[in-house]
Amino acid sequence: MTRTVRIVGAGLSGLSAAVELAADGYRVEIDEAAAGAGGRCRSYHDPQLGRVIDNGNHLVLSGNTAVAAYLDRIGAQGRLAGPDHAEFDFHDLRTAKRWQVAPNDGRVPWWLLSPARRTPGASLRDHLALGRLISAGPEQRVGDVVKTEGPLWERLIEPVVVAALNVPAKEGSARLAGAVIAQSLARGGRASRPLIADPTLDAAFVAPALAHLAARGADVRFGRRLRAITFESDRVAGLDFGAGEEPVGDAAVVLAVPPWIAAELLPGLIAPDRHSAIVNAHFAVDPPKGARRMTGLIGGTAEWVFAFDDRVSVTISAADRLVDEDRESLARRIWADVARTLDMPPDALPRWQIVKEKRATFAATPEQDARRPSAKTRWKNLALAGDWTQTGLPATIEGAIRSGVAAARLAKASAGA
Ligand SMILES: Cc1cc2nc3c(=O)[nH]c(=O)nc-3n(C[C@H](O)[C@H](O)[C@H](O)COP(=O)(O)OP(=O)(O)OC[C@H]3O[C@@H](n4cnc5c(N)ncnc54)[C@H](O)[C@@H]3O)c2cc1C
Repeated sequence: MTRTVRIVGAGLSGLSAAVELAADGYRVEIDEAAAGAGGRCRSYHDPQLGRVIDNGNHLVLSGNTAVAAYLDRIGAQGRLAGPDHAEFDFHDLRTAKRWQVAPNDGRVPWWLLSPARRTPGASLRDHLALGRLISAGPEQRVGDVVKTEGPLWERLIEPVVVAALNVPAKEGSARLAGAVIAQSLARGGRASRPLIADPTLDAAFVAPALAHLAARGADVRFGRRLRAITFESDRVAGLDFGAGEEPVGDAAVVLAVPPWIAAELLPGLIAPDRHSAIVNAHFAVDPPKGARRMTGLIGGTAEWVFAFDDRVSVTISAADRLVDEDRESLARRIWADVARTLDMPPDALPRWQIVKEKRATFAATPEQDARRPSAKTRWKNLALAGDWTQTGLPATIEGAIRSGVAAARLAKASAGA
């Protein structure tokens, strides 16, 4: 008997669950509300720029083991680009100072002994404070655990925590920040190489997954928005996509939708209910030869500048303050920062696009982290997936993929049971 699993949502958590299930011979059916897959990690042709862009730059780290296993399985290993060794370039716009943080490959962090490799102005002892984040308790904020002033804070902890947690750094969950450090820096430079999908997110994470699933007979249906779930005692009995209930029979169901949708569909679900914006700016311009692939900016509006072959893209996290701002003035302000960093003409604003993702991720505070449910539900044939479930990580690709694997395992245990 072929066992069937119905997956709702074709973001990375749904795709990861599907890939895991297809590998074990399950029949997979995915229903996705949008016209394409990828969810918050997607690429599309932007007519204003005349090229394919990502909704937002996505950074992963070489220590993201679930990402590596997923890419391996869908045949997309090698679709992430990055330096051979961990290195992070920074530019302080206020002082024009540039530096690089360069952890050594191995686990013993001798790079901290070298002022040329560590954060300028911060001592070895300052850097060791990062370890306190790893052992933080679930209720602690980053600001409770490390010093929130001085060079280490301004030049390393604050920019990295804002990017990883998508909330103002002091407010963020120390435990979630520590989890990111534990799987990267604490394991040495080899696990900390910054990697980005090149040329696009779709080419790395989405298109190869869809091709892999199609080859295994999976049915992926777009434009199908789940409206309601019907239950019978401790099981999901049917799914309603707007044309009446479709009985699920003995199939298992993986619900891989964002938390605000899951909360509407599932009675009594406690899930994160505070979200935080990410703003991305894309400029249709070839970066100068030798431009660093990724630079962290201090003291400007732009936070991280990414140089692709055919475009320059900027990410600004914890960006609720910017979502109502006029798009053109925002583009100009961001371009001024980019131009200074990449030594390009500040007045020659290239064609631009601003993408504002208002609910980019749940706000990774201790309070919101405490609201994250596990993949297992009180319904025997229903599992949850999503970066907002209890993965132990902030809302990241690594977390989304891990959540899909966890949901797939539960679905395997219940499909056809
Ligand atoms: C701008 C931006 C930048 C980011 N940067 C990074 C980064 O640098 N590094 C990193 O690791 N992570 C980053 N993230 C986070 C990362 O994108 C997410 O963690 C990940 O994509 C979440 O995947 P998911 O499957 O959990 O959710 P989603 O991608 O939200 O997938 C849910 C899917 O469900 C579908 N859906 C919703 N409702 C229904 C319904 N009723 N019926 C059927 N389908 C439905 C949606 O259309 C969507 O496709 C970023 C996110 C954003 C938005």
